[in-house]
Amino acid sequence: MKRFISLFRKSKNVVIFTGAGISTLSGIRDFRGADGLYNDPEADRIFDIGAFWDEPSFYYGKTRQFIYNLEDKEPNIIHTELARWESRGWISGVITQNIDLLHQKAGSRRVIEIHGSPRIHRCRACGSTRTFAEVTEQLRDRPVPLCSCGGVLKPEITFFGEALPADALDEAMSLAYDSDLMLILGSSLLVQPAASLPLYTLRGKGKIVIVNNQPTPLDGRAALLYSDLKEFFQYTAGLGDLKP
Ligand code: ZN
Repeated sequence: MKRFISLFRKSKNVVIFTGAGISTLSGIRDFRGADGLYNDPEADRIFDIGAFWDEPSFYYGKTRQFIYNLEDKEPNIIHTELARWESRGWISGVITQNIDLLHQKAGSRRVIEIHGSPRIHRCRACGSTRTFAEVTEQLRDRPVPLCSCGGVLKPEITFFGEALPADALDEAMSLAYDSDLMLILGSSLLVQPAASLPLYTLRGKGKIVIVNNQPTPLDGRAALLYSDLKEFFQYTAGLGDLKP
């Protein structure tokens, strides 16, 4: 860890990249874990765009206790440490594959959500939008949230069959390229664009550090590798000042 702290101190532009692995500490089912949504026999349908428009109540029924229960979920030490790092000016922002809004709940301000986000829901009929809180409120007493025009609201999460959000992706790529250090947390870097974002940092002559409990295809290119996220952040939290 001393080597990491030394590298962190030397780096001028640090970006964080997070995946599902960081949320499991908060008791959140990740998509690929043992009890994750992707092990649901109907997993492919939950985030399939065609299935959504055929039967939106299927998506909302399956995700009600997974996405729309933010008030029951608490950010963990990773989320709170990253928010602290940002407030101290030590990192430029967080790029995340997660759609659980826990970085924002912890206080992070610059969060780039490359798989979209349930922060905003949009009406298919008229294009008007509703916030996460408004949709969560509606879901208390109806199976599918509706716009005032009667149209169905869809979260701006990227579903299978939809394009990734271009603006978020552009911002993530340029931030990755400009960073001299990318700290990758809880992502196995197996799916795009996660698999290629660290390459932008490497191409820009930056270094990558990976903390993940499973091997990743980029382990061989990492300056430092760690496997235990909780230990990693307990160490940094215990240090207090990471940069003098
Ligand atoms: Zn509408």
